Amino acid sequence: MIRILFSAPDQRWADYRDTLPAALSRAGVIADIGRDFDPETVDFIVFAPNPGLTDFTPFTRCKAVLSLWAGVESIVTNATLTQPLTRMVDTGLTSGMVEWVTGHVLRHHLGIDAHIRGQDGVWRDHTVPPLARDRRVTVLGLGELGRACALMLCQLGFDVTGWSRNPRDIPGLRCLSGAAGLAQALDGADILVTLLPLTAQTTNLLGAAEFARMARGGVVINPGRGALIDDVALIAALDLGHLSQATLDVFRVEPLPPDHAFWQHPKVTVTPHIASATRADTAATQIAENIRRFEAGEPLLHLVNRQLGY
Ligand code: NDP
Repeated sequence: MIRILFSAPDQRWADYRDTLPAALSRAGVIADIGRDFDPETVDFIVFAPNPGLTDFTPFTRCKAVLSLWAGVESIVTNATLTQPLTRMVDTGLTSGMVEWVTGHVLRHHLGIDAHIRGQDGVWRDHTVPPLARDRRVTVLGLGELGRACALMLCQLGFDVTGWSRNPRDIPGLRCLSGAAGLAQALDGADILVTLLPLTAQTTNLLGAAEFARMARGGVVINPGRGALIDDVALIAALDLGHLSQATLDVFRVEPLPPDHAFWQHPKVTVTPHIASATRADTAATQIAENIRRFEAGEPLLHLVNRQLGY
């Protein structure tokens, strides 16, 4: 019988204790799933970083490690992990991200804050606001999450540009890639959404020069990873008025320290890494399918490239 170790922060087990066996059974995989096995008897590890497992060396029989999270930057750097590593691609996670990104893009596009914060008894004349088609939105990262968000924004009528490492061809989107493509993608962007993984290449990708390319009054929305952005340069661009707002979900240090400038800044909205979450019901199906595939000799889905870091 296949033995699967579930190694993740304690509170996750309650979500998977029933869903994972059910999904494995649906996939036709007969397995023993638990939280405490002798390492040398384990075939697969369902994993999220936790203090209980930092050294993979004793797992001599382990065939693959399946991450519960989409972002694997803190796992790929573990030198003791030599087995194949897969990352989470989950329809529930993707839907949640599309909803969060669309909500925050619409908030800024419609200027909703002005009415919520500025309700003062004065009935003002208003000018005709821009439509979505008049608003340039750039999405950095056209993977599982970035692509889905970009396509939803396209459907709403926004003028959407996407950027990725490899050239992409996605109907409805202006797709750019590479360093020259980044400059083009940023030029004149009204709203920037960052859905890149954190790798050696993407760390500190966005600084003063990149923000300066965006349209005056531009908005940054970052649900990707905190270190994609130079915090000091972002605050400077907001203080100078070149950027008008930032909505940040992820940070270099999490939880964001109470004295961090982002908390108090009038142009920054902080959300506590809640843009989206892996949903156990749909995620369990993906994990079970990958274990089934491995056992059937089929290639694993969503394999992480260690060299690239994502
Ligand atoms: P994917 O791996 O599916 O997609 C990554 C995208 O980034 C790809 O389009 C890839 O290009 C592009 N990319 C990677 N490196 C570069 C580079 N150097 N230059 C240009 N483009 C690059 O990831 P997901 O879409 O599933 O997830 C993206 C990130 O979202 C995660 O890594 C995680 O950090 C974050 N996340 C945040 C959550 C939250 O709640 N805040 C929840 C879940 C994830 P290419 O297509 O060419 O490979």
